[in-house]
Amino acid sequence: MNLQKLIFVNNACYKAGRTIVPKGIMVHSTGANNPNLKRYVGPDDGLLGHNQYGNHWNRPMDRQVCMHAFIGKLADGSIATYQTLPWNMRAWHSGSGPKGNGNDTLLGFEICEDGLTNATYFRSVFNEAVELCVYLCAMYGLDPMKDGVIIGHYEGYQRGIASNHADPRHWFVKFGESMDSFRAAVKKGLASVPSDPGAADPDPETPPPMPAPEPPSTGEPDFEVYTVVKSDTLWRIAANKLGSGARHPEIMTLNSLRSDTIVVGQKLRIPKK
Ligand SMILES: [Zn+2]
Repeated sequence: MNLQKLIFVNNACYKAGRTIVPKGIMVHSTGANNPNLKRYVGPDDGLLGHNQYGNHWNRPMDRQVCMHAFIGKLADGSIATYQTLPWNMRAWHSGSGPKGNGNDTLLGFEICEDGLTNATYFRSVFNEAVELCVYLCAMYGLDPMKDGVIIGHYEGYQRGIASNHADPRHWFVKFGESMDSFRAAVKKGLASVPSDPGAADPDPETPPPMPAPEPPSTGEPDFEVYTVVKSDTLWRIAANKLGSGARHPEIMTLNSLRSDTIVVGQKLRIPKK
């Protein structure tokens, strides 16, 4: 798996900031012929490529949609997975049915569809999705074969916890796959993951410390350097330093942060007011 991270801090779902305890995973495919991650994930981080329409999902949108991850093509044509929300944040991927709302318990990711005839692309993203589910099942101690743990969007609809969509079945069947074969592949992948809990990442949301930002070589700095202390959040720093927590994306941009996660001792550039 080529796992990258670009958190959708500008999507209203992220700003809503609700959390869940993940009990399973819902698999989606986009339903549109566009295998390029840049269609959904942005802005360009140097790998994604530039989306000339600016219609990626890391922005305020008129629809309530937001995923934990996307699988598709980078600008160079290779396959990657982008995490776009913290895994324990409540996303907007499932919709609801008479028996509940899948968003309350399930992680959700999209596989970017192409024209649905390219077997090589299908196999690549199918395998990438299996690996993502292996990773998440290991992280949250989920059994992929247990009822309702890994489901396709259409199965969520059948179970009464999702909106009426056919993804990803309509694509999987074209290449002899199904959610059953998908779950079996995840189970097989998990069997090769070491079961020693000491080997697992105890806190997958904690990144390695970032190097201190370089000061500019010339001219008057237009920022101050702030050192992160215990219990800080980007929101709180923005609120204290810039007068509004909602300005925290400015700090992310200035520091080239790909996620909202910060660590004690990290040095951040803070824009001058
Ligand atoms: Zn879907």
